[in-house]
Amino acid sequence: SAKPGRTILASSISKTYVDEITAKVKSLKEIRPNGPLLVGFLANDDPAAEMYASWTGKTCESMGFRYELRRVEEKDFLEEAIIEANRDKSVDGIMVYFPVFGNAQDQYLQQVVAREKDVEGLNHVYYQNMYHNIRFLDDEKMLKSILPCTPLAVVKIMEYLKTYNNLLPVGNRLYGKKCVVINRSEIVGRPLAALLANDGAVVYSVDVNNIQRFTRGEGLKFQKHQVEDLGAFSDAALKECCADADVVITGVPSGNYKIPTEYIREGAVCINFSSHKNFDDSVKSKASLYVPSTGKVTISMLLRNMLRLVENRQKLHML
Ligand code: NAD
Repeated sequence: SAKPGRTILASSISKTYVDEITAKVKSLKEIRPNGPLLVGFLANDDPAAEMYASWTGKTCESMGFRYELRRVEEKDFLEEAIIEANRDKSVDGIMVYFPVFGNAQDQYLQQVVAREKDVEGLNHVYYQNMYHNIRFLDDEKMLKSILPCTPLAVVKIMEYLKTYNNLLPVGNRLYGKKCVVINRSEIVGRPLAALLANDGAVVYSVDVNNIQRFTRGEGLKFQKHQVEDLGAFSDAALKECCADADVVITGVPSGNYKIPTEYIREGAVCINFSSHKNFDDSVKSKASLYVPSTGKVTISMLLRNMLRLVENRQKLHML
């Protein structure tokens, strides 16, 4: 039977960024005749990371960037390798394929990456700006801050889907929207909930332990989001959050997890950023717009971040 809505693939959404990115790369011909250089560090033998690396490489080269995968056999040498790339003037962007140690040392390593080359936007300064809804690095508002690329990809997907209403003032374009985000990791779920709430949405942030509400308060009176605890996680509570949600976003890292299609409101927008499909195929008969994966948009955002970093370094006369 005919489905009422549509499935939108990340590849279609990322296409809208290809022209913009390719043109920018061309405009850098003077300083980067062979294209800006992204260096990826791989210090684990995770086949998924290997796949992601080769995919990043191909995407880079298709848009005029150079990509270098540096394999580090001894995990303990990774820090030195990152520091060397930080100092190397020919390197424009650096990313590390995590997990490396799989513990808090990974967060330390992430902060070793120079802020000026952090394409994933994971530097503490960028995070703090994002959580505080601060868009620039300097008082003169010359240097744009960088956003973590997976949450940013979800925001750009929601712009593409027109969940962001561009008749509303910039910064309030999700006013009136109710979103559910199932995942509260520090890499994706929490920053995403904060970004959406900062843009005016009411966000229910769900993890295995509990449910929180992120909002800018009544009448969007606050400049940045506030967080309220709503109590322990339960299926009943999740179902209640979803019942009138305009957008449901999933990021559960498990092959067994499926959010029951019956929880989804008719006509809701459904987006999955987990590497596993968290929605059952039956969601297509319920969702207005369904985006089954987001990885391709994430890579576009990574490259967009890299161009912004190059721009910032030019303005600072570092290039
Ligand atoms: P993580 O393990 O750090 O976090 C998982 C989160 O999901 C936690 O907050 C956890 O409490 C919550 N969760 C797990 N099971 C749940 C359940 N049954 N109900 C409610 N909440 C539950 O993982 P992560 O780093 O955030 O990655 C999550 C997924 O997103 C992975 O599949 C990863 O591969 C993918 N990912 C995708 C991209 C992309 O660009 N598409 C980028 C990064 C990560």
